[in-house]
Amino acid sequence: MMLRARDFATARGQRLHWCVARDIPLHRDDRDLPAAELDAKRSKWLLRPDQNTAHVASSVPLVKGLPVRLTDCINRRRFLFRGRRGYIHGWAPHPLEERQVVDDVVFLSRLPQTIYVHFPGATWQIEDLPQGVYPITPVSRTWLVNKRTKVKVRRTGFFLVPDFASTAHMIQGQSLEAAFADVVVKDIFDVATEEAFVMAYVMLSRAKFLHQLWIMQPFGQQLFLRGPPLGPELLLKKLRGELSPKEAQEAFDSAERAASNQTVEKDPMKRKFRCTACFLMRRKSCEKPPQTFGAFSSTEIFEKITYQGAWARCLACTELADQRRRELERRRRELASRHCRQGPQYRAHNASATGLEISSCGKQSTTMLRAQGSGVQVWSATCVEAFVAARSANSGRRCRNIATVRSRAKNARSSCAPSAARCGLQPNTRRRTAAITPPTKRGR
Ligand SMILES: [Zn+2]
Repeated sequence: MMLRARDFATARGQRLHWCVARDIPLHRDDRDLPAAELDAKRSKWLLRPDQNTAHVASSVPLVKGLPVRLTDCINRRRFLFRGRRGYIHGWAPHPLEERQVVDDVVFLSRLPQTIYVHFPGATWQIEDLPQGVYPITPVSRTWLVNKRTKVKVRRTGFFLVPDFASTAHMIQGQSLEAAFADVVVKDIFDVATEEAFVMAYVMLSRAKFLHQLWIMQPFGQQLFLRGPPLGPELLLKKLRGELSPKEAQEAFDSAERAASNQTVEKDPMKRKFRCTACFLMRRKSCEKPPQTFGAFSSTEIFEKITYQGAWARCLACTELADQRRRELERRRRELASRHCRQGPQYRAHNASATGLEISSCGKQSTTMLRAQGSGVQVWSATCVEAFVAARSANSGRRCRNIATVRSRAKNARSSCAPSAARCGLQPNTRRRTAAITPPTKRGR
């Protein structure tokens, strides 16, 4: 948080100010501690997240324009609820504050009297402040240091945190223009719990547009292979009349029991992973050990299975796909070769037989024939000849009709020198032909 706030201040050409909440121990043992020990304790308390400290943030970076978020409701009438976003407009320093500059960051000895926050979209105005600017003053709340011993501390600070990042819990129900999501809790081989699954769902569904969502690191398949959530699925079945209330309750109880008795394999090498190709081909066993994917260690599991995401395929399926790809490539080359040797009728027939569509040149204003759907451009010798000859005959003007182009090409060929006539090209246009012809596809 400090680094982000600092980068923000540097980018804005401002100096970062930092104010820290004040913790007063309420327990006698803590109060009687020597100053150094109490300070050490206070430093530890400042590391607690605001959810544990009655939503009073431990520290607030102060930079004009810094995005902030409310950690608790401060004014219901003005819709300033928890989670509302705003920007720091300014602050009123404490009259007795002392400033200490460390590494170009100003640490304030006292909390500011007021932090003015601008809430975009607000229509209200408070006194002579600009529209939508609200003065936030420090609050004091008591929080539990230790739930077992009931040791309490009173903290004075602000219900404000910088809004650079958020937990899945906090962001629930909100829509974002863009998001960076990290759905890995600890490790990509973590056992997927219902909580992790729901958190991942919340994170991945916040951005309004799919192309504005970035996933920070690969996550394990197990996260989304848990099947439908038990409760909602049984509820739907019950509402559809497929289950009686008693049956639904029994199904829920038995599934809960099964889940609690189930032992989850923690060693990734002993787990099974799903081959997507086998799954799509509806093979009986699409869950396979990592060795069948060519992975013989955790690192290889990451590279060969996790990193592939939904495209993870076992070695047998990969080999089959490669074989088919080679076969398809061979057929394409054969087609291109025939296409160059044979006449137009044969080409059209052959193209339709293989499912490739060859477009006419009229629309593209070129004489290039293109095998559509394959992504491969097929240039026949005739096409290249016609194109080059037409361009030289027309001084660069392109023809709109292939028939015209061919007749001009014929005329151009008949006037060629004997050595050039063999290939049908004029000597001075050879170089250009080579440049526009895809080398692997022509005339094989
Ligand atoms: Zn497979």
